[in-house]
Amino acid sequence: MNRVLDFLVNVFGFSDNFRMALNKDYEVEISDDSEATASKEFPVFETSKLLISKKKMFIKVKKEVGKSGSIDQARDVYKSVSNPNIITNTSMINAYGLNGMGMEAINLYREIPIDERNEVSQICVLNACSHSGLLDEAWNIYNEINIKTEKIITIMVDCLSRLFVFDEAQNLIDSYEKSHRPSVVMYITMLSGLRNHRNIDLSEKVYHRMKSIFPTEKDSLVSGAILLANIYSSLGEHQQGRNFRSNQLRELKQKVKIGLSWTEVNDELVQFKAHDRSHPRSSEIYAELDRFAAELIAHGYKFDSSWITRPIREYETIQSVLCGHSEKLAIAYNFIQRPIPSIIQVTKNLRICGDCHAATKLIAKIRQRDIIVRDAHRIHHFHSNGKCSCQDHF
Ligand SMILES: [Zn+2]
Ligand SMILES: [Zn+2]
Repeated sequence: MNRVLDFLVNVFGFSDNFRMALNKDYEVEISDDSEATASKEFPVFETSKLLISKKKMFIKVKKEVGKSGSIDQARDVYKSVSNPNIITNTSMINAYGLNGMGMEAINLYREIPIDERNEVSQICVLNACSHSGLLDEAWNIYNEINIKTEKIITIMVDCLSRLFVFDEAQNLIDSYEKSHRPSVVMYITMLSGLRNHRNIDLSEKVYHRMKSIFPTEKDSLVSGAILLANIYSSLGEHQQGRNFRSNQLRELKQKVKIGLSWTEVNDELVQFKAHDRSHPRSSEIYAELDRFAAELIAHGYKFDSSWITRPIREYETIQSVLCGHSEKLAIAYNFIQRPIPSIIQVTKNLRICGDCHAATKLIAKIRQRDIIVRDAHRIHHFHSNGKCSCQDHF
């Protein structure tokens, strides 16, 4: 049983919510690694650090992570369990959810006897609904839940915000705050949805409310400021976005975390930061990126400058800034291997940006390769048909 649980947790369990729910089990696993505690916010980052910093653990986890994102593998392991219990069922629900298979997650949840369903399984199924856009199903499940904890309400806020039902998300937060201390996670969750909706007025309101309620929650306020700056940029207000971001960071006395991506090729784990030229095969990587760019453009792709959050330097172009993002470098590194890996897998410590998301969808299609990017929030499975498992809710 431990093997199965290890597998499912390691392969699929590092979404914020699932990890939050299984916090205890997870922390036991990493507690003796000092480096691994570096970032509580980004479980993926912890995982990757774990891989780098702890050899024994590396060997154990490597085999599992090597299959990350493979829903078929997870289903095979799940089916091999003779008496699935709440943990295996929940792990499988979570796996379905992260892979955009909401209906499968709901069906499995419905098979669990009502008195065995717990907060973790409820969170995972609501998360699955959220990522698959199943609002009515989410409301049905939510209304059936007797004890609505902070995590459960947060997931429902997430679901509503992803589907742009902001008034109902706000209502949930308001009614929660009538009898509880406000929850900063609910606000960040709502802001993510507002960013995708490019709703600047409501975003500003939510962010300012966050600042007044949670003046000491610096990390969350930085996340909120960056989300808001991204909205300004996505509306073409690049300068305003940059100014807002730098002013807020100065005010909060915080620095932005550096984006890092990891990929494992031929048993070697390689790390990239943006515009990294430290790898010995750097010139080949950048030549491959040029080929990516040419192919993307030939297929009608337009690089999306709204995701650039800093001034472009004299020697740079929109294309060169965006092509230098760490996940694109990691993907290009896979494509210069011979043979090219049949599935390309990348882990990133922050959320993937919209340009990398759109470009990777098209690269997967042009090059006919499955690409899996596990970012700080979820697993994106870019299929060779040009679609992502998150269905563009990210
Ligand atoms: Zn990017
Ligand atoms: Zn995606």
